[in-house]
Amino acid sequence: MNKKYDFIILGSGLGGLQTAFILSKQGFKVLVLEKNPKIGGTLQSFRRFGCDFSTGMHYLGSLDEGQMLNKIFKYFGLFDNIEYKRMDEDVFELINIAGKEYKYPIGWDRLRKQFLEYFPRNEEVFDKYLSLINKAINSQALYSLKQPEDNTTTTEENVLMSSAWEIIKSLSPDIEIQNYLAALNFDYGGEKEKTPFYVHAIVTNYFVMSSHRVVGDSDQIANALAKSIKSFGGEIITKQKAIKFLFEEQKLVGVETHKGSKYFAEKFVSNIHPANTMDLIEDGKIKGMYRKRMKSLENTISSFTLHIKMKEGSFKYLNHNIQYIKQNDVWYASYYDDKKWPEHFFLHTPPQTKDDSFANSIQILTYMKYEEVKKWEDSTARTRPDEYLEWKEEKAQKLIDLASKKFPGLRDNIEAYNISTPLSFRDYIGNSDGSLYGKISDFNNMASNYVSHKTKIPNLFLTGQNLNLHGMLGVSMSSIITGAEFVGLKQLLEDLNNA
Ligand SMILES: Cc1cc2nc3c(=O)[nH]c(=O)nc-3n(C[C@H](O)[C@H](O)[C@H](O)COP(=O)(O)OP(=O)(O)OC[C@H]3O[C@@H](n4cnc5c(N)ncnc54)[C@H](O)[C@@H]3O)c2cc1C
Repeated sequence: MNKKYDFIILGSGLGGLQTAFILSKQGFKVLVLEKNPKIGGTLQSFRRFGCDFSTGMHYLGSLDEGQMLNKIFKYFGLFDNIEYKRMDEDVFELINIAGKEYKYPIGWDRLRKQFLEYFPRNEEVFDKYLSLINKAINSQALYSLKQPEDNTTTTEENVLMSSAWEIIKSLSPDIEIQNYLAALNFDYGGEKEKTPFYVHAIVTNYFVMSSHRVVGDSDQIANALAKSIKSFGGEIITKQKAIKFLFEEQKLVGVETHKGSKYFAEKFVSNIHPANTMDLIEDGKIKGMYRKRMKSLENTISSFTLHIKMKEGSFKYLNHNIQYIKQNDVWYASYYDDKKWPEHFFLHTPPQTKDDSFANSIQILTYMKYEEVKKWEDSTARTRPDEYLEWKEEKAQKLIDLASKKFPGLRDNIEAYNISTPLSFRDYIGNSDGSLYGKISDFNNMASNYVSHKTKIPNLFLTGQNLNLHGMLGVSMSSIITGAEFVGLKQLLEDLNNA
C-alpha cells in the first residue's frame, strides 16, 4: 500500500523548504521531492579547486535585531549554527557609474547624509524619494509582517505600481541623482520599461536597512531548514524529478518521478516555475487559459558568472559588494548591446570566516540574455559542443578584462575559474531560460503577470520566487502566503513576530 502524505512539495528551493517547514511544524505529514542530488535550488553551493562557491545568495538584508528578516530567520531557526557577517556600515555596495564611484551605506540616515555629500542642496529630492519608499513599504503590510487590512488600493498606491524609472526621473532632472537612487537595481534585475516602483522600494529598503553575508556557504541555510523539517517528521527525497501529476478522474492524487516512483498526497505545493509546473499536468485537467497564461509568463534576464579561486594572499577581502556600470545609465540591463558585452559587473568576496583579511575566492557576475546560448540549448552539461566551450572562454576573458579596469593585476592573481552561463542555470534549476530571479514584475501587465499561490486545480498550490519577488525576502513572503493557507495567516504572523 502506498504511503499517503498530507502534502507533497515539488522542489527544495528556499520556497519549497520554508513551506515544508511551516507545514511540518504544524504537524502535517510532508514529503519534499527534489530533482537534484543536492537540496536548496539557488541556495546550493558547489566545491571546485578547494573553494566553496554559493550559486545565488550573496547577501541578505534587514537582518539586524528587530528587523524583518531577523524575525523570519528566528522563526525558521536560521541563527542556530550559522554565522552572518554585517557588511561595512559606511559602504555595503560601492558602485562605479561611468567612471565615478559612489557609496551605499547601511541605514537611511547615513544614506541621506551620503546623498547630500554627493548632491548638496537636494534635501527635498531625497526626502520626497524616502517618503515614496515608505509609502510603498506601508502599502504592502505583509512585508512588515502585518496582517493586510483589505484588498482596496488607493490612487496613491496605484502610483507606486507604476514605473520605478519614471518615478525616480520625476524627482530630479539630474541624471547623476537618478542613477544614484536606482543604483541597486541589479539586485532585482530592474528594467526601465517594466519594473514597478514598489519592487524598487521593497528591495532597496531591504538592503539599506542592513546588509549581511553568510559566513561560508549559502547551502547552510538549506541544510538547516532540512534538519528542522526532518525533526518535525517531514521527509526529503533527492534525485527524484517530478515528471507527471497523477489524477483519479479530475482529482489530483499523486506525482510520478523520472524513476517511475509514485507518491500520493492530499495536497500538492509546487516550488517549480509555474510554466514548468504546467508541463506536469496532462491536457484537460486544468483550464486552457490558465495554462496558457502561466506558460507565457515573462522571466527576468539571465546571468554569466565567474567563480574564481585567487592565489593565496593576493586579493583583499572586501566587506562590500562592487558594482561597475560603464554606461551613464544604471538601467542598462534592459537594453545591453551584445557587441559591447560586458559593460557591467557585480563582484562579491564570500567570507570564509568572520575576520578574513584575504578572499580565497571571488565571484564576478553580469547579465546575459538566454538568446546568446539558445543555439546550444539541446545540449546538456556533459554534451556541450567545443564551439560553446570556446565561446564561453572568450566571454570569460572579456569579463576578466572589464573587472581588471577596477582591479588592475586581477588576471595575474587568478589560480583557476569555473564559468556558469544561462544554460548552466537552466539545467540545474530546471526553468526554461536560466532566469536570474524568475518571473519579471511588469507594471504594464500587472494582471496577466500576477501569480497566485492557488491554481485552477483545487489541491495544487504554488510557492517560491515566481509568486511575489525573488530573494530571501520575496521567497519568504511567498512561503508565508502559501503556508498561511493551511495554518492561518493570523497565527503564522503571530508566530513570526514572537519568534
Ligand atoms: C546568480 C544569483 C544571485 C542571487 N543573489 C541573491 C542575493 O544576493 N540575495 C538574495 O536574497 N537572493 C539572491 N538571488 C535570488 C535567490 O537565490 C532566489 O530568489 C531564491 O533562492 C529562489 O528560491 P525558490 O524557492 O523560488 O526557487 P529555486 O531556488 O529556483 O528552487 C527550485 C527547486 O525546484 C527544483 N526542481 C525543478 N524542477 C523540478 C522537478 N521537475 N522535480 C523536482 N524538483 C524540481 C530545482 O532543482 C530547485 O531545487 C540570486 C539568484 C541568482 C540566480
